Amino acid sequence: DLFAPLGLMPSLLTRLAALNYVQPTPVQAQIIPAALAGKDVLAGANTGSGKTAAFALPLLQRLALDKAQQTDVKGKGNLVHSLILVPTRELAQQVADACQSYGQTLQPRIKVTAVFGGVSANTQMLALRGGSDIIVATPGRLLDLISSNAIKLDQVKSLVLDEADRLLSLGFAEELIALLDLLPKQKQTLLFSATFPEELNELTAKLLTNPVSVQL
Ligand code: AMP
Repeated sequence: DLFAPLGLMPSLLTRLAALNYVQPTPVQAQIIPAALAGKDVLAGANTGSGKTAAFALPLLQRLALDKAQQTDVKGKGNLVHSLILVPTRELAQQVADACQSYGQTLQPRIKVTAVFGGVSANTQMLALRGGSDIIVATPGRLLDLISSNAIKLDQVKSLVLDEADRLLSLGFAEELIALLDLLPKQKQTLLFSATFPEELNELTAKLLTNPVSVQL
């Protein structure tokens, strides 16, 4: 198994085999070991590169290990273990589905919730009841749900910004800054972007500490 040398746990390897993932993509080969080791990552990666699995697999493994140590990571109020920020609702749903799928064989079970605007906030609040391990969110709706105490971010261990350039170009800069201030300083951050415009520099400088840089 070519994923095994990257350091992934047996239950995730079983799932990847079931999905017919035989060979890691270059993005996965470079990012998974670094992310498993808890390092920050700055990655230039397009859709189709396998970037979703590159961040989702290490995030799921670190979550599973944390859950094995603490008896109840989920369900402590509305504390979230990992937060994935994305620019659009389609991507939120897609990434949430991918996390759920990759994490299907993990025990105890993990809960992933997608949070995005344009649909009823009540439905999402119900889905968030009892806590979620991983939240995949667009910034605006996430801020709304934090204001209504449906989500608490002060125990987040890992943060992913997916399509960071689009997050900024779609006008989420202010929401992003407000959100990032609500996160603990001590956390792992993985930032993915297809392009690196100047306006991203401030964000990467603020967010990433000695990142492993991957450019493909
Ligand atoms: P992404 O770049 O994350 O949007 O992924 C692109 C597509 O490639 C998705 O449909 C994934 O399911 C698939 N994929 C990702 N990594 C692998 C892999 N190592 N082997 C086979 N398919 C993969």
